[in-house]
Amino acid sequence: MKKYDYLIVGSGLFGSAFARRATDAGRRCLVIDKRPHTGGNLRCESIEGINVHCYGPHIFHTSDREVWDFVNSIVPFRSFINAPVAFYKGRLYNLPFNMNTFTQMWGVITPDQARARIEEQRAEAVAAMQAEGVSEPRNLEEQALLLVGRDVYQKLIKGYTEKQWGRPCTELPPFIIRRLPVRFVFDNNYFNDIWQGIPEGGYNRLTDGLLKGSDILTGVDFFDDRQKWEAIADRIVFTGKIDEYFGYRFGPLQYRTVRFETEVLDTPNHQGVAIVNYTEREVPFTRIIEHKHFEMSHQDVHACPKTVITKEFSSEWKDGMEPFYPVNDEKNNALYGQYKALADAQEKVIFGGRLAEYRYYDMAPLLRRVLDIPID
Ligand code: UDP
Repeated sequence: MKKYDYLIVGSGLFGSAFARRATDAGRRCLVIDKRPHTGGNLRCESIEGINVHCYGPHIFHTSDREVWDFVNSIVPFRSFINAPVAFYKGRLYNLPFNMNTFTQMWGVITPDQARARIEEQRAEAVAAMQAEGVSEPRNLEEQALLLVGRDVYQKLIKGYTEKQWGRPCTELPPFIIRRLPVRFVFDNNYFNDIWQGIPEGGYNRLTDGLLKGSDILTGVDFFDDRQKWEAIADRIVFTGKIDEYFGYRFGPLQYRTVRFETEVLDTPNHQGVAIVNYTEREVPFTRIIEHKHFEMSHQDVHACPKTVITKEFSSEWKDGMEPFYPVNDEKNNALYGQYKALADAQEKVIFGGRLAEYRYYDMAPLLRRVLDIPID
């Protein structure tokens, strides 16, 4: 008899949500994590009474009622509408690309005027592509030019994207930019989803609630004693890097990492919004997060005399760093395909999450997958 039904490697959102479902179904779970804490990149730390998103901002958004009910059954969510702002050469532009952005960019007043501007620039992009004999965008640059034209691309997309991904936009896949909405209404809500929010009291309450009832070991690396961990349970849920799981046998996949510089400032309100993206190439960081705006009302922001901000610097992942984003270009996706074929042949192992599925996942679709997995 093995001691556990499931060994769950990694206590991030995938691992902890799976643990909740398995535990609720009467299964015994052991969750191990190599970090000294649970929660993966959702981890928050309280600084000056403010919940700081230690591994980058997480805003939950979904139109899937079952997913929304699932997270709210663990901890109630407080409504938060993400409305980030872009900073480019001393001027601010609203995001996502909407009538406010177009007014700031061109001084246009009506949706028809904005459309006419974009159409004009889109026509240039179409003509350039036709000249090369292509009808579908081959890369992020062509996709962006088709979506919003050259002005928005040059000021709000190119520099930010090349900093974030460390590659020219001509070498990045088009789908990345399709995440961003383009709207001809005055609406700065970044997401199109019906429900959007942050757990009351921070994300640790969500992951702690998901992990309740499981045995947990932190500071434990699966790969340090693989045989022992593989023998401890009937099945494994693996949420780490899929290439590492298979001993990098086809070669390493590429990831991006993020370095965070966090400071406490002696002012109640530094930037007036949770996220400001610095879209020019010359500024070394991609964005500044001001954490208090995620959870505090306008009144509370000013009642709390200090603020905590984090600058994010993006770079290529190397061994020993935390992997954050998979680089889903053609080369890496093909390599992932080879690992996926091995993973599919593993009957007793479930691979899930950003690193194990090598996918640029948001939280809600990841939970959709967890909810769809049959618990044996
Ligand atoms: N993006 C951009 N300018 C911005 C914000 C986003 O060009 O001001 C692009 C960039 O390529 C990024 C993609 O849109 O990788 C998706 O952005 P999102 O905000 O969804 O990224 P995340 O929050 O997941 O890092």
